Amino acid sequence: MSELQLPLPGAPRSKARRRWLGAMGLGLAGGLLGAGLVARAAVPPSRVVVVGGGMAGATAAKYLRLWGGAQVQVTLVEGSARYTSHIMSNLVLGGARSLASLEFERRSLVERHGVEIRQATVQSIDPAGHSLLCSDGSRLAWDRLIVAPGVDFDPAYGLTAEDYALRTPHAWQAGAQTELLRARIAALAAGDTFVLTIPKAPYRCPPGPYERACLVADHLKSRLGSAARVLVLDENDAIQAEPETFGHAFDVVHAGVIDYRPGVRALQIDAATGRVAWTDALGAAQSVTAQAINPIAPQRARGSRPGEWLERAGLIDSADGRWAGVDLLSYESTAVPGVHVIGDAAQTGLPKAGHIANQEGKTCADAVLRLLAGGSPDPAPVLNSACYSPITAGTASWLTAVYQYDPASRTMRIAAGNGRTDGARPTESARIDAENFRRMGTWFDTLMADSFG
Ligand SMILES: Cc1cc2nc3c(=O)[nH]c(=O)nc-3n(C[C@H](O)[C@H](O)[C@H](O)COP(=O)(O)OP(=O)(O)OC[C@H]3O[C@@H](n4cnc5c(N)ncnc54)[C@H](O)[C@@H]3O)c2cc1C
Repeated sequence: MSELQLPLPGAPRSKARRRWLGAMGLGLAGGLLGAGLVARAAVPPSRVVVVGGGMAGATAAKYLRLWGGAQVQVTLVEGSARYTSHIMSNLVLGGARSLASLEFERRSLVERHGVEIRQATVQSIDPAGHSLLCSDGSRLAWDRLIVAPGVDFDPAYGLTAEDYALRTPHAWQAGAQTELLRARIAALAAGDTFVLTIPKAPYRCPPGPYERACLVADHLKSRLGSAARVLVLDENDAIQAEPETFGHAFDVVHAGVIDYRPGVRALQIDAATGRVAWTDALGAAQSVTAQAINPIAPQRARGSRPGEWLERAGLIDSADGRWAGVDLLSYESTAVPGVHVIGDAAQTGLPKAGHIANQEGKTCADAVLRLLAGGSPDPAPVLNSACYSPITAGTASWLTAVYQYDPASRTMRIAAGNGRTDGARPTESARIDAENFRRMGTWFDTLMADSFG
């Protein structure tokens, strides 16, 4: 994988940023070509099954064929005919994008890359027998299995699954709940309150909830002026990503509209009355009645509840029983040999993000091909991650990091000098502006073409 050319501390910022953003648009493709040209040991005829055709699984299936060739038979098992991107789905809430614009076909995987798609969901995995059972009754055998099912949501705060579907949508999986939340926001009137709650990390897309708060505030301001009110109740003790950008957005760009409260405990929501109650960071009881509530539910690997398919296969081994532990050189399960887990379902210490899921897909595909050829995974993988955050309907910021494998801790760590002197945190954009918003479109199109095209 290629490293991005990052802005250097002290370099002229605009020039450095231009250079870096150009690299970001091309970085995905450049990384792929580079890795694809690496000389490989011949892979014997092999069968790889990939479960889940989202950001991680689609990328893995594509690159297994690109790098492995016709010797490697790749079957992708996926329940939905099309993929609806969660990335950019916050822009649907104010009408800046449609859900239809976020739908992606998987036809290229079949026609250009020779992946076989089985439209079904996986019901069970038999790791010892190297096979799995699909919802259409068919059984598939594999030499290596890659699992990428994304996340599922736990009803919390006194809400039921029906509340989330009909009254208080989390909309953290793009689809019907996104449309429901858009309608709830559209119905808000002057003086009404919108409440957004953020679960304890780890959750999918660390900057996503703060981005959503900004976009809802921006949309409400355009309709209701200063009468708009967005209350953000965060179970975390601080902003989880881009703290400088979002701190500025809350205190300056959307001052007087966004009311951000970190360190919230004991959250309780009554979907029928709209009453939201919590204990604040100082231990005092608080409550408010809201006209629209968006409780982002706590998350876990899809299939990880006791008795569900991933858990029955023995893959869920994190201390909290929610995630699949993996070796970060190959994404092979730490509990079940021969099975690899990528994307949001894996416990990696990396942000649960689409750009990262794409990178994990490639790293895993590369490792699986090396293992099938009798070799070992790359001992020093490097991943890049970029993420744009719209702050208004026409401006955005960005966040980026380069992660490098650290053999001592067996973790992925932010590479030294990642545009900062401390090297410990991702780099944030110095500006929130329209140019970033424009480049966000290029980044998104490139990422999606790389995963599905
Ligand atoms: C509002 C929002 C904004 C975001 N913005 C960004 C952003 O700006 N940048 C960024 O990098 N990331 C962003 N993300 C995060 C990103 O969308 C996820 O991290 C990414 O989609 C994870 O990829 P995945 O492949 O693990 O899961 P998914 O993309 O969710 O794919 C999982 C797939 O598995 C399939 N599946 C599940 N179970 C089964 C089964 N039993 N059998 C067969 N198939 C199955 C599903 O149908 C789905 O297609 C955002 C997320 C949200 C919610």
